[in-house]
Amino acid sequence: MRHEAISVFDMFKIGIGPSSSHTLGPWRAAQLFLTSLEKKEILSEVVSIEILLYGSLAKTGKGHGTDIAVQLGLSGDDPVTFDVNLISEKISQIKIDKKLLLNGTYEIDFDPSEDIEFLKNESLAYHPNALTFIAVLKNDEHFSETYYSIGGGFVKKEGEEAGNDEEVTLPFPINDADDLIHWCMQTGMNISEVVMENENTWRPEAKTKDGVWQIWKTMSECMYKGCHTEGILPGGLNVKRRAASLNKKLLGAKEYSGYDSWIKTIQEGGKDFKYILDWVSCFALAVNEQNAAFGRVVTSPTNGAAGVIPAVLAYYIIFCDGNSEEKIIQFLLTASEIGSIFKKGATISAAMGGCQAEIGVSSSMAAAALTECMGGTQRQALMAAEITMEHHLGMTCDPISGLVQIPCIERNAMGAIKAITASQLALQSAPDFARVTLDNVIQTMWDTAVDMNSKYKETADGGLAVNVPLGLSEC
Ligand code: SF4
Repeated sequence: MRHEAISVFDMFKIGIGPSSSHTLGPWRAAQLFLTSLEKKEILSEVVSIEILLYGSLAKTGKGHGTDIAVQLGLSGDDPVTFDVNLISEKISQIKIDKKLLLNGTYEIDFDPSEDIEFLKNESLAYHPNALTFIAVLKNDEHFSETYYSIGGGFVKKEGEEAGNDEEVTLPFPINDADDLIHWCMQTGMNISEVVMENENTWRPEAKTKDGVWQIWKTMSECMYKGCHTEGILPGGLNVKRRAASLNKKLLGAKEYSGYDSWIKTIQEGGKDFKYILDWVSCFALAVNEQNAAFGRVVTSPTNGAAGVIPAVLAYYIIFCDGNSEEKIIQFLLTASEIGSIFKKGATISAAMGGCQAEIGVSSSMAAAALTECMGGTQRQALMAAEITMEHHLGMTCDPISGLVQIPCIERNAMGAIKAITASQLALQSAPDFARVTLDNVIQTMWDTAVDMNSKYKETADGGLAVNVPLGLSEC
């Protein structure tokens, strides 16, 4: 049986908001298209490029910044390193000049209003998030490729296998929760140790630790920035940022400078239940406000759900004495394995499975990680993941105006709290008596995804998106 090898760095990717499937994926697809043009040695022959967006990318692509992402990708910019403060300047310039510097080198004619087509009534069979790039060459020939953004920033080119390009054989191949618990029981290792052994196949342990630490640094910087940025989110809904005012309210006149002193100041406030609850919400809101504002975030496992894991991890660090590099790395390794099991057994794409695939999965990941870090057994960690998803089943995706703001931002706070509750429940329970396994709930999530009406799968055609009179006209 083939085991798909997914690394912690596939589950956690540094990028730019607001959406992993509608921003990061299309951005990556544009970069891959450039690579294809380069390989064929026709990059310098291109005179113009047309991009066709299908299905969910067409329906909510405007609000999710798909048009912006493909332009930056074609310009040769990278989502990991591109300065987020330059996005609007660069996009405005392309619009004014009607020119794009392909791969940062070759100037081509490009009018975003004509060359990016939102084909709202067309879908491709393989996946609702599809896009085609058509390059016209100097000799009038056309070269085109179609890509699918299959969730969490993962991209598949038509005709190619998804996932990791390299064929690797992991010491502990895992397709489902049953495989994972089998390896844990056979070796006596906890989940994060099994994950680290697998990661060692790709790179030395020290490099993995460094990379995972960078992931946390990016998450915590995003959270800190979100907690200190006021204003209105872009997109036209006039959604007011709340994390900064909540941060101020909770800390009052207390002074601090920088992230470490901020954490210490929060800790000094004690452990009152409502105080902790407010902080968990504040952390989650902060990350997703940054995400909605095209800020730098970590896809975990998606951008819309990027706030859940940092919020639960910050809760663990601040209120459960988890402030050590080793524990933070352990948390993220465990979380990544749960996310990859969901991806293999169901989906992490809202366009395929609704919001259960985004907030539900991130919450499950966080619950298992918190449980392991709090000293729970491997089976309690899986139980926590199962409990969490059980109570996200059927959750729909219906973002108002296709923006990753309402209900998305608050939903991260809800997902974080559910993860903490599920973890606590699992820590107080005996997994032997659990009637539902993690694999059962993953299968159920997938069945629910298949049965879900397509208007609830990131189309903004149903739910809150049609019942709340805040819709924007197309611009
Ligand atoms: S409703 Fe959920 S799945 Fe849909 S865009 Fe918002 S966070 Fe993502």
